[in-house]
Amino acid sequence: MPRHVYVHVPFCARRCSYCDFSIAVRRVVPVDEYLGALDTELRLRAPQTPKTVDTIYFGGGTPSRLGGQGVARAIELVSRYFAPAVDAEITIEANPEDVTPDAAEAWRQAGVNRLSLGGQSFDAGALAWMHRTHGPEAIASAMEVARAADITNLSVDLIFALPAELRRNWQSDIEQLLKLNPSHISLYGLTIEAGTPLGRWVDSRITVEASEEGYAEQFLTAHSLLTEAGFEHYEVSNFARPTSKSRHNSAYWTAAPYAALGPSAHEFDGAARRWNLRHYAAWRDALSEGRDPGEGSETLSAENRVAEAVYLGLRTTNGLQTQSGDESVIAPWIREGWVTLTNETIRCTPTGWLRLDALAAALTHHRSR
Ligand code: SF4
Repeated sequence: MPRHVYVHVPFCARRCSYCDFSIAVRRVVPVDEYLGALDTELRLRAPQTPKTVDTIYFGGGTPSRLGGQGVARAIELVSRYFAPAVDAEITIEANPEDVTPDAAEAWRQAGVNRLSLGGQSFDAGALAWMHRTHGPEAIASAMEVARAADITNLSVDLIFALPAELRRNWQSDIEQLLKLNPSHISLYGLTIEAGTPLGRWVDSRITVEASEEGYAEQFLTAHSLLTEAGFEHYEVSNFARPTSKSRHNSAYWTAAPYAALGPSAHEFDGAARRWNLRHYAAWRDALSEGRDPGEGSETLSAENRVAEAVYLGLRTTNGLQTQSGDESVIAPWIREGWVTLTNETIRCTPTGWLRLDALAAALTHHRSR
């Protein structure tokens, strides 16, 4: 049985310019309707004898838009089927402006012990360009409010590789974040997705994607500044203080089974993936008719499993155990300084992570022959 549960909460106040996630833009969040559908999905699909789990992660969308009581009720529903262990990690993703004293207090009382804040930047112009709903000062304020409510395990997301014309000062953003002393930091390079406002701006040449050199320079700058400040760069996009690695995400990176609920949620039982209907209304309507909201499933082939093991191994500092013949494949990468080989474990260096897809493809090709 899975020891980890993901719950997708799709609501957002508006769509960010770069976002192609499964979201539902709502000025007023239909909390009761969502929780009713979640309750039905749990009754249909969850184990009917409660199972103990180590992590519960509410992602989105913006789970904090459920408010203090909405999140508390969601945790209560999920816990009837997936009982959190005494030391379970319970995370919610939050936008800074939703972290009010009342909400934070309700979240902590309900068991939330980790917040993942969508900060993205401390540059007011960049935040406006991203269509974010908060200003730079809201990030510090949210962290202060969370700490006052005794939620101290705080992760902050930042986006890098913004278009050069925004003149965003990446180093300054990292330094400002370090002053707030988060326990965990996730960094994501901006990607241009078709169908988003940003995709259209790029198509019509209103904006220009950051160069590969700019992307690499910012990634390596972040690595230097954050590791000097005592963070471990433990996964390609994630940095943590020594005791603050994300336990939930680490389960994904070790291919552990996890359950998943909510629109577009993907789950994995150790051999197969299964995913729900992508759109909120379709998921809700299926459940209101008593139907399974699943949209598809896929059993991993032997080749898929090899590819996944290689990719997951290379993306964290745990690394990948070598197999026969790997040495000849990675020898050029070692010479370039892109991977290391110690104790029969292959690990990417930061410059290697910039080439992760190519490295994973070469090793997968070799292992699949
Ligand atoms: S808050 Fe997150 S999920 Fe919502 S639109 Fe913005 S990036 Fe997408």
